[in-house]
Amino acid sequence: MSLLNIHRWLDPQNCLLCAARVTTGADFCPGCERSLPWSRWACPRCAAQNAVMDTLVVACGDCQKNPPVFAGARAPFRYAPPVDRLILNLKYHGRLELSRLLGKYLAVYLQNLNEPRPDVIVPVPLHTSRLRQRGYNQSLEIARTVSEHMALSINWSDSVRVRDTPPQTDLPRDQRRKNVRGAFKSSAAFSGQRVAILDDVMTSGHTVNTLAKSLRRNGAVEVRVWVVARA
Ligand SMILES: [Zn+2]
Ligand SMILES: [Zn+2]
Repeated sequence: MSLLNIHRWLDPQNCLLCAARVTTGADFCPGCERSLPWSRWACPRCAAQNAVMDTLVVACGDCQKNPPVFAGARAPFRYAPPVDRLILNLKYHGRLELSRLLGKYLAVYLQNLNEPRPDVIVPVPLHTSRLRQRGYNQSLEIARTVSEHMALSINWSDSVRVRDTPPQTDLPRDQRRKNVRGAFKSSAAFSGQRVAILDDVMTSGHTVNTLAKSLRRNGAVEVRVWVVARA
């Protein structure tokens, strides 16, 4: 039986994972919700998991060696089952409705952190050819839900992806930085703004770092990163 079959989605009274009855409006039963791959001991700078506890206030070893351009990164989940499958279904199988579920978890997580809010959310843009092929940008769809929950505005038009690059996950580690170099262009619209870049998954962090660079170069005073899951 496939995970998350459509009947369960259409019947909101059932847990998406195990079909147990749930209270109205809940996506998962309490047991399944507890077993989601929640983030623990993450580096505050890059959201990498399993950072040693006493480095928590500063940053992980990687961030100390090569500090990213963004000031911090937040992710409610590790990129692990069943969250990885939810994201893949959203991204490659047209399951657009999953953006609401993932966006809701991201928003609730961010609200609980109670950190200073950015002025604007910038979903990682897709290249126009990829957008045409897929029909939607999953990061923008997730951002819509986050923006509703947190009353923040989205800017999806003043940063563009100027190069169509292969997905980072298809490339060996050492080629990922080069793959996205110069991939984004931003306008002066971000001058003086505190920006939260929003993406579905963060793997090496090169994509969001390249976008952060382009935003900072165009006047953004601070850039943070919000993702649903950190690989
Ligand atoms: Zn369940
Ligand atoms: Zn780090």
